[in-house]
Amino acid sequence: MIKLVCPECRRENEAERIYCHDCGARLDRTALAKIAPKGEDAKETQKRLRTMLDPQRAKIRHLFFKTSKVILGALATAAIIQMILPPDMPPRPKTGDFPPQITLDMENALLNHSAAPLQYTEAQVNAYLGSALKSKQTALSKLLQFERAIVKFDENVCAITAERSLFGFSLFTTTSSKVSLQNGTLSTTNNGGSIGRLPVHPMLMKYADPLFSDLWTALDRERKAISKMGSIESGSQAVVLTPKS
Ligand SMILES: [Zn+2]
Repeated sequence: MIKLVCPECRRENEAERIYCHDCGARLDRTALAKIAPKGEDAKETQKRLRTMLDPQRAKIRHLFFKTSKVILGALATAAIIQMILPPDMPPRPKTGDFPPQITLDMENALLNHSAAPLQYTEAQVNAYLGSALKSKQTALSKLLQFERAIVKFDENVCAITAERSLFGFSLFTTTSSKVSLQNGTLSTTNNGGSIGRLPVHPMLMKYADPLFSDLWTALDRERKAISKMGSIESGSQAVVLTPKS
């Protein structure tokens, strides 16, 4: 119940009164107008509710965007963590191991018109790449220190992972392709890749090409030698290069 306090004698009067019950002083009824009466009409109620709800709506909107931002931020962080995490990589080949001279083997086969297929295991190719790329460090990307390239062979699929370091921190990029050799043309069809442990859709991999361009340039001699072969076939953890007969 709202009471009107008399400005003269401080008596609490009923809301209906105009003059004080005790001293007859005129009561200040403007205090009543500030407090909404119960029987207000619909229009006033709507107006009042709108002003009441508007900041509420704004608050909800604010909360929604804040939550969305947190979720997006978490997703981006999760993606970055996946990008930073190293994929499963074979151990670095022991230094001192003499790797097979794959390119030389191919060039010799071509010179000697040998038709004997050349078969290499993943480990052999990786040991070869390790030594072949060591001498090409300067040709490889300078911003990121090139560390190594690792291949993985599977049925008709060849994946190559480049490890680069930035301030001593390793970053891995992988591209996976179907490799085919037809009439002296070596062609690849990308079927995906990854940055660290984050998988990258084949549709997006074409934009990742600059990440590998230095590697392809460094492996120019190898690519040319392969192009002169009759066929290339990859199986589980091995590759077979058959010279033209
Ligand atoms: Zn009074």
